[in-house]
Amino acid sequence: MRPPIEFIDLKAQQHRLAGAVQKAALAAIESAQYILGPQVTEFEEKLAAFCGARHVIGTANGTDAIGICLMTLGVRPGDAIICPAFTFAATAEAVAWLGATPIFVDIDEDSFNLDPAQLPIALDTAKRAGLKPRAVIAVDLFGQPADYDAIENFCRNEKLALICDSAQGFGATYKGRRTGQIGDFTTASFFPAKPLGCYGDGGAIVTNSDESAEIIRSLRFHGKGDDKYEHVRIGMNSRLDTIQAAILIEKLAIFEDEIAARQAVANRYDAGLHDVVKTPSVMPDCRSVWAQYTLRVDPRRRSALMAELKSKGIPTAVYYPKPLNEQEAYRRFPVAGNGLPTSTQAASEVLSLPMHPYLDADTQDYIIESVREALLGRQSIAV
Ligand SMILES: *Cc1c(COP(=O)(O)O)cnc(C)c1O
Repeated sequence: MRPPIEFIDLKAQQHRLAGAVQKAALAAIESAQYILGPQVTEFEEKLAAFCGARHVIGTANGTDAIGICLMTLGVRPGDAIICPAFTFAATAEAVAWLGATPIFVDIDEDSFNLDPAQLPIALDTAKRAGLKPRAVIAVDLFGQPADYDAIENFCRNEKLALICDSAQGFGATYKGRRTGQIGDFTTASFFPAKPLGCYGDGGAIVTNSDESAEIIRSLRFHGKGDDKYEHVRIGMNSRLDTIQAAILIEKLAIFEDEIAARQAVANRYDAGLHDVVKTPSVMPDCRSVWAQYTLRVDPRRRSALMAELKSKGIPTAVYYPKPLNEQEAYRRFPVAGNGLPTSTQAASEVLSLPMHPYLDADTQDYIIESVREALLGRQSIAV
């Protein structure tokens, strides 16, 4: 019998890092500096160096990171924030916290990311609703950067801020630039299943602005001033834990290596599957960190395919079954233009396969053969 296949194998990584991570976590516990201990600063500095950016500020999670960027911009009711509908809810959730209005835009069919051609339509939608457009939140979905040249251009011309929600794409590169070097802010999530995950919740904001960095440090700490009992603005309690920072220092040390391993897994899937199903494509001169490996399948066959793979011990997942504009909590917000047909279609077709740096070739070949068999029938598999 084959051992169970994990969708994301966090235990394999833990095994690899066991000695180092346990030592680091124990040292953090023994130091008793649980809130903003020295490991937080060390991790922030190391992550800034990794990105080639000036500032990294750790936060409690990736959703808070987005919210704090919006607070730094002074976003408030009456403001419009343009973001894709085909994303995890957190992207728009932080906008709604502040009473601002997310304007949902459609995605590009090949990349699953915000379609820059839709941005002028979204801007028009915001203005016609009497809202003040303030920012674009682009999402690096499934690990691939959004099409930033076009998005940056648009934001510059329209004087909008750009927040890169890189919860899934942190570590990716766009035409030689790493996440963190693009836009006004990049946000990261260290939720365990993300490419750079910790052992609980965690997040960060990357920015090159000294002024924004100072505001962000205040906002994550109850709006503190120079002293911690001086409060100069309404903030939040959203700090990265010392223990999680200690763990992340060890994880960051092997992150490049893991990104390369993820790329190898993606290459093997592509070679084994591209002739039978639409496999994901990465834009030229870009590098994905492969948070997910997402196929497009015939919507009428998706459930049957999932069930067949499940019967063979292969877990799959649908990210995301509904675009945000079809979710109960988000239905009331405007969509750009005449609906979001590409998002709706993607939601009906997507199917993600197991993806992590420790997926061995033998297991992966079994997954590939099983997908081929399910799609084509048994006779086509010549091994
Ligand atoms: C996971 C995720 C977030 C939120 O991160 P948390 O750390 O879970 O709060 C935001 N945006 C996207 C696209 C995500 O996938």
